Amino acid sequence: MSLYQEIVLPSGQKYSQPLGLFIDNEFVPSSNGSTLTTENPGTGEVITSVQAADPVKDVDRAVKSARNGFKPWKAVSLVEKRDLFLKLAQLVEDNVDLLSQVESLDSGKPIKTNAAGDVESVSATLKYLAGWIDKTSGDAFSPAKGKLCYTLHQPLGVVGCIIPFNFPLAMMSWKWTAIAAGNTAVFKSAHQTPLSILVFAQLVVKAGFPPGVFNVVSGEGETVGNALVSHLDVNKIAFTGSTRVGQLVQKNAAINLKPVTLECGGKSPIMVFEDADIDEAVKWAAFGIFCNMGQICSGTSRCFVQRSKYNEFLTKLVAYTKENFPTGVPEDPEVVVGPQITRDQQTRVFNYIDGAVAEGCRVVLGGSGLPETVASDEKHNGGFYASPTILADAEPHFKIAQEEVFGPVLSVGQFDDYEDALKIANDSQYGLGASVFTQNIAQAHEFADEVESGMVWINSSNDLDFHMPFGGVKMSGHGRELGSYGLLNFTNVKAVYVNYCKF
Ligand code: NAD
Repeated sequence: MSLYQEIVLPSGQKYSQPLGLFIDNEFVPSSNGSTLTTENPGTGEVITSVQAADPVKDVDRAVKSARNGFKPWKAVSLVEKRDLFLKLAQLVEDNVDLLSQVESLDSGKPIKTNAAGDVESVSATLKYLAGWIDKTSGDAFSPAKGKLCYTLHQPLGVVGCIIPFNFPLAMMSWKWTAIAAGNTAVFKSAHQTPLSILVFAQLVVKAGFPPGVFNVVSGEGETVGNALVSHLDVNKIAFTGSTRVGQLVQKNAAINLKPVTLECGGKSPIMVFEDADIDEAVKWAAFGIFCNMGQICSGTSRCFVQRSKYNEFLTKLVAYTKENFPTGVPEDPEVVVGPQITRDQQTRVFNYIDGAVAEGCRVVLGGSGLPETVASDEKHNGGFYASPTILADAEPHFKIAQEEVFGPVLSVGQFDDYEDALKIANDSQYGLGASVFTQNIAQAHEFADEVESGMVWINSSNDLDFHMPFGGVKMSGHGRELGSYGLLNFTNVKAVYVNYCKF
């Protein structure tokens, strides 16, 4: 059985796709012979099948590899670790073209306007993490004569990293924080997008990372993901995915009291006050939900506008979205909105749109059904496309304004004043991001203080900077990724007491 397959990309370029599990720096077959099939969301056709891990034997094998790799990785000096990260970042940069084509093929991300940026962000994140590696330290102080206290920031051991489908490589790179903090890791790729991480694994070997530091198991979540979560020799789980699965992860990780970081779903509000720069608010509102086909955890998927500006905002939003978010096939360099990840997800999006109409919303752009640009394209009309959709007249309690759609669907409603806006913003089980548009600086900061969320954007939406911590509150999860806080999530802070005087 070959563990590689030649694949022809939509550009015509051929490459060799690794298909094995990646354990101990090698691609290996599944011990039970099972496979996982992956589809091209742009056409609906099967791309290939990768080896799927046996939940008992292979997950254990990957965890053992990470455990065996832990001590040698701890022994690598911080400067050497930093240089390995920088080398890997450079290799990613050298391979942006291939990685972004593979990412696009497997996830449906438009190559030029989306996947390429994701891959560039992987390199940037690795460089950012490299900067931390030789600069983290603890505290030291003397509380009394003859006494010294200090803290050691130590790695936890083996970390299980569970990745979602929406940013397969980018979300993976955030979890390289675990490795930067001195841990070794087993990654479980999303079952819909197993390909790009295996191509990336080849670069990890090329960069010179020792065996065991980075392992990848492909497979379904309920079996392979759960085996990693429940494994007694895994010291921490870093999970990104839905709230429903996050709850299971937290419950199942309790078996050995593993700490978990949960980056889960969201329903982030965007509140536009009448004194806001409406043209700016329109641009950010569209970006905040329609980038990445609406498959963004922190997507600002419910928008509320102060009554006096509601009609103006809606008219401008529709015109701006039509102009700037063309829907179509991922290989078209002009396309911004590609397909949804799966047929199920496409159906789910359409059902939410139809449900919102039944609740009383007006479709002012898009709607359920294949976008015109692909409907008559025989090669692509089996793909999982959905158009950017704007639903006007949404009331805060509507299902469409409460539940995560995870698609290119924005509901828009109205509010009266600051108190009303804050109440609506906080009326959600989620608390990931929140965006506010106003020229009133006091009102903006008051909102930032009072809104229940992990992140706030004042006069922007979904602004991201990896120097800043990313994460949520309420049913959006807990713990933070990125920034200095991100490293702390993968560290045991040990208190050391030194006594050099007589008792
Ligand atoms: P998902 O929860 O279905 O799957 C996420 C990962 O968990 C996948 O790798 C999946 O195979 C695995 N999994 C599934 N069941 C499991 C189980 N029982 N035990 C262990 N692992 C299991 O989510 P998805 O559909 O891949 O991603 C979309 C969701 O992710 C959305 O809800 C989105 O908001 C969320 N998300 C959150 C963030 C964040 O940072 N907060 C970022 C991206 C995506």
